[in-house]
Amino acid sequence: MGAQAFEQMKSEKPLVDNPATRRYVQCVADAVTQTLDDGQGWEVAVFQDDAVNAFALPGKKIGVFTGLLDVAENQHQLAAVIGHEIAHVLADHSNARVSANYATAAGLQLVEAVISGEAGGATREQIMALLGLGAQYGVLMPYGRGQESEADQLGLQYMAEAGFRPEAAVDLWQNMAEAGGPAPPELLSTHPSPQSRIEDLREQIPTVQVRGEAPNCDRYR
Ligand SMILES: [Zn+2]
Repeated sequence: MGAQAFEQMKSEKPLVDNPATRRYVQCVADAVTQTLDDGQGWEVAVFQDDAVNAFALPGKKIGVFTGLLDVAENQHQLAAVIGHEIAHVLADHSNARVSANYATAAGLQLVEAVISGEAGGATREQIMALLGLGAQYGVLMPYGRGQESEADQLGLQYMAEAGFRPEAAVDLWQNMAEAGGPAPPELLSTHPSPQSRIEDLREQIPTVQVRGEAPNCDRYR
């Protein structure tokens, strides 16, 4: 279903043209996923979209919007977002949500209809939202606080395993909070309360061990 949702997104939203931008996001995502137990075969798409957003889907899919790259200012901060989103998938947060809503026989039939493209509209949007793509479809379903803090903690570990600086996660959420204004970042519509998140991250950072060297991913090269 994640793969299906990903194809859907790619057919609806333009992908970025700039090869340097694509290489940059791929470079950061590769560094993070390569540290995972099952790190092969993750697919990355960069969407040309000013929304400050990113997502990961079951089925090893990662999507990043170009708007995020103005808030996640460097490879370390981008790794923090990607690590966090991957953590939601690997900790089964998105799977659990879809199962909880579609675990009945009728529900599974609906899911199959959505996958095969026979169902559309509200059902499709709800499943997309359960998978974590709500902001794109106007159906907001934030994860619970416990899931958020688990994803934050796991995300710190993933980025540190890849050599990225865990302190960048604090910078990232600070930037996110400051990027408010008339159009607050979409990521904040599904990831509320950056302030308490920042405090928790500050406590967790000393417990995380950075391994190896960060790659040298460059947005403009
Ligand atoms: Zn989250």
